[in-house]
Amino acid sequence: MSDAWWCEHAWVDGRVADGVLVTTTDGVIDAVEVGRPPTGTCLQGLVIPGLANAHSHAFHRALRAHTQRGGGSFWTWREAMYRIADRLTPQSYLALARAVYTEMASAGITAVGEFHYLHHGPGGVLYADPNEMGRALISAAADAGVRLTLLDTCYLTAGPAGEPLDGPQLRFGDGDADRWAQRADALRSAAEDEPHVLVGAAVHSVRAVPAEQLARVASWAQAYDAPLHVHSSEQVAEVEQCLAAYGCTPTALLREHGVLGSRTTAVHATHLTAQDIADMRATSTGTCFCPTTERDLGDGIGPAPALLDGPGLFSLGTDSHAMIDLLEEARAVELDERLAGRRRGTIPAARLLDAATFDGQQALGWTTAGRLEPGARADLVAVDLASVRTAGGGATAENVVFAASAADVTDVVVDGRTVVTDRHHRLDAGRALAEIIGEMWS
Ligand SMILES: [Zn+2]
Repeated sequence: MSDAWWCEHAWVDGRVADGVLVTTTDGVIDAVEVGRPPTGTCLQGLVIPGLANAHSHAFHRALRAHTQRGGGSFWTWREAMYRIADRLTPQSYLALARAVYTEMASAGITAVGEFHYLHHGPGGVLYADPNEMGRALISAAADAGVRLTLLDTCYLTAGPAGEPLDGPQLRFGDGDADRWAQRADALRSAAEDEPHVLVGAAVHSVRAVPAEQLARVASWAQAYDAPLHVHSSEQVAEVEQCLAAYGCTPTALLREHGVLGSRTTAVHATHLTAQDIADMRATSTGTCFCPTTERDLGDGIGPAPALLDGPGLFSLGTDSHAMIDLLEEARAVELDERLAGRRRGTIPAARLLDAATFDGQQALGWTTAGRLEPGARADLVAVDLASVRTAGGGATAENVVFAASAADVTDVVVDGRTVVTDRHHRLDAGRALAEIIGEMWS
């Protein structure tokens, strides 16, 4: 099926072009022509490629505004997160994730990387299909109209000294990496006929996967040429525990066991040594920063300039969904850097826009997404330049990255299918979230 979209302005070849006609066949861009008169479906504002949310735990959305009361740390926040995790069923997870992914679609996110570790029933009892929770996420993404990279997460222990899982954590565990791989194989088969899904792998962290099991997860991802993600160096305590257990940093441990590489994304990468950064660069390992979560949890500020320089990808994620706004994640990388370094303008808006789109899509394995060019997936996201936030800022990357918010996304096209029109998605995510989350906290 052929379609044509005319964009008042569009982000093409790293700059803003005017009067851009994008023609597609079966969800793939045939041509991008600049300086053309309006025809086909007209998109006002500045059209950017699809935003990629490279790090999500869908169920954490239920914590928003509930865990902002009182003080504490990442570790006290985690207790509240475990309480929610313990209440979810495949049915309630489908309903919650469908609404969360709809919130993402409305924010211009066309692909999400779901770091999925809530595999089993309470007490660790397997469902009739051990991938029932994963299949709920696949259905949720289809209903919301976004692509899903389901990063099936290996989670085996409660700490780097091999402490056994306990309480709500029992739902996360597969016993050992071989059994994790068997289940992940079955999930890949289940997702084979789902064009909106890629199945990748994840190591939860060096706390949750013992060193001798890391290579099994890495080899699984390598065998399928699949994305491999890992939480790494988010917390000072995590680094200290790793040093105590193994005598090296998480990054060094991951490198030693073959986890780092160009298909790998280290999520957070907040507390890195100079040697860690050298290891990341030497292996072309990607990084995913999640600034709104990192600020919400009081994690710290990672070394963005050193990592943005490449050669690895630099992607962004909304992680715990304290908010779902990739533009806020993008600007936060530069604004956090200003606070930390007391200097303005280290990272250009164009680089941040690329991180939020192209780098993120690549980190999730959608290799032909993230740019408006022939042969690319037809993901189009129109950003309003006439709202109270953006009016007067002009058709520039700076206006989109530093002034616009998710609320300024008016139209979203994913693989050539219109998912959001004039800020309207066919599903009422607000109502669904109120119902499901209200029930979970009752
Ligand atoms: Zn995470």
